[in-house]
Amino acid sequence: MRIDRSSNVRSNRRVRWSGQGIAVDDGALPGLERIGLVRSVRTPQFDGITFHEVLCKSALNKIPAAAMLPFRFTVNGYRGCSHACRYCFARPTHEYLEFDPGEDFDSQIVVKTNIVDVLRRELGRPSWRRETVALGTNTDPYQRAEGRYELMPGIITALAASGTPLSILTKGTLLRRDLDLIADVAQQVPVSVAISLAVGDADLHRAVEPGTPSPQARLGLIAAVRDAGLDCHVMVAPVLPHLTDSTEDLDRLLGLIAEAGATSVTVFGLHLRSSTRGWFMTWLARSHPELVAPYRQLYRRGAYLPADYRDMLRERVAPLIDKHGLARDHRQFTPVASPVVVPEPQPTLFDVAPEALRPSSRPRA
Ligand code: SF4
Repeated sequence: MRIDRSSNVRSNRRVRWSGQGIAVDDGALPGLERIGLVRSVRTPQFDGITFHEVLCKSALNKIPAAAMLPFRFTVNGYRGCSHACRYCFARPTHEYLEFDPGEDFDSQIVVKTNIVDVLRRELGRPSWRRETVALGTNTDPYQRAEGRYELMPGIITALAASGTPLSILTKGTLLRRDLDLIADVAQQVPVSVAISLAVGDADLHRAVEPGTPSPQARLGLIAAVRDAGLDCHVMVAPVLPHLTDSTEDLDRLLGLIAEAGATSVTVFGLHLRSSTRGWFMTWLARSHPELVAPYRQLYRRGAYLPADYRDMLRERVAPLIDKHGLARDHRQFTPVASPVVVPEPQPTLFDVAPEALRPSSRPRA
């Protein structure tokens, strides 16, 4: 075992941190070993978070064609997300690493420290067809870890240098740091920026998205994106049944989003699959026990809201979008071409109910 105490770095895989102390754990981290763990780090600046630095073998993830998404490639520099949204669709991916999908997902953050080099190599292959690459479809690229590791400037620059269009989806106000770069890059390749904002109430935000910037801060971010000369799409998703789906709440939120300068919006409801469902329902039982029965009824057939609810939401939202002068998603993406690499499969935010993929409402990042 070798520990560099000055940098608070763990360099032996069989040692796990517990609070500020060190404890030996014979169980090690086989899931992390599989994906190239180099070291695990805790620093006082990121209390409660452990960064697991890995050397990835591939950077471009190919989305299965069956997903019917408007893009086929994604890049994710991180696994796990300190934004800690209770409803996060990506939680089950942490189980592949033998972490739990609840608190570990929020606090055990995998960082692909060599991702920019690997990405450059993959983008340089003659077979790369310069299809749009989506950033932020699995975990948030501007979560707190990005303040330490600064992967995004290199990723964005590499994509632009290869002539590859890109889209960015985030809740993180750290995006402001890169706005000048993104605006520059947008002169070279098509760039789409989207902010996720679906909870306008401050108390509910603190409860259900505890690690994310406040709704007010994200409205400011939308304005900053527009000030940088970029269009700004807003994902009003997921809408939470009985919590954020009233006409009044949606009207107020869409009004604020329009006022901030957003150019277009996509709205769709919560889906709850596998371990995300358990994590969310545990929170719901504690915070809103009166809603447990209605949610069980709504999701009795599986991960997606029933068709009548989806129809209701669509009909409720359509006039509000018009009222506030917002556009539906109209962004263009490059057509599908041939595949490049096939790394680990990952669910995405766009793993949505089939009706949301119809042309009029298809969510895109
Ligand atoms: S910001 Fe996105 S990736 Fe991060 S926890 Fe929330 S929903 Fe998941």
